[in-house]
Amino acid sequence: MDFAFATEPGPGRPNEDHVIVSGGFAIVLDGVTRPPDLDTGCVHGAVWLVRTLATCLVEALAAEPAATLDLILASAIDRLRGRHAGRCDLTNPNSPSSTVAIVRERGDQVDYLVLCDSSVVFEDGNGITVVQDDRTARLPAYDRHTVARLRNRPGGFWVASTDPSAAAEALTGSVARDNLRRLLLCTDGVSRLVEFFGLDWAEIFVLVERSGPRGVIDAVRRYEETCPGLLTRPGHARGKRHDDATLAVSLVRTRTGIGTPPSR
Ligand SMILES: [Zn+2]
Repeated sequence: MDFAFATEPGPGRPNEDHVIVSGGFAIVLDGVTRPPDLDTGCVHGAVWLVRTLATCLVEALAAEPAATLDLILASAIDRLRGRHAGRCDLTNPNSPSSTVAIVRERGDQVDYLVLCDSSVVFEDGNGITVVQDDRTARLPAYDRHTVARLRNRPGGFWVASTDPSAAAEALTGSVARDNLRRLLLCTDGVSRLVEFFGLDWAEIFVLVERSGPRGVIDAVRRYEETCPGLLTRPGHARGKRHDDATLAVSLVRTRTGIGTPPSR
């Protein structure tokens, strides 16, 4: 599969999203931003977390090519625990964490996994399918105590941090590769085009085809500048004015004739 991607931090801040693509898989991660005065028990931060988790995922994908993606993720979180190198309190419920979106080509199938509020969206012969874990959108409150109490707990929400068992809570599935037309993975800094700004996924695929993944992020920034009032929804945590935005896309190749050598 050919993947293209774009990633951009919110203005003036480090990028806590991360993306890795290869010919056989794509990984998109969104590190959870830590309030400056929050004790995480960890000497590392969100940027370290997403980069190290991505490395652990690549290692697990290479080491266990036949394993299901939830087992790959559990193995990666277990590897990640070791990377704290005994310096951090891995029982702290505010330890750095990340959402996860993965797709992987496996024979004639494409497997996908989503944990927390990143998304996988694909179009096949049945139309567009949106794979989203909406448990973070249904918390009773969003203060730090409630979030810490419900993190990686039944009835709460699940995220990649220090508990490998969170991987079993991910949404997973497979789609036949030959039926796949368009596919994207993104962080919530991109899916806000749908959740807050009123676009639909078909429009976003059109944007990808016209302007590539960078054109989608440009659209996010235009909406954030011109329609900030839409980032408020009753009963939900208010969206940040700007967020890190990342997407990886794969479009089925169409024959254009361009670059085809003349026949003799
Ligand atoms: Zn640490």
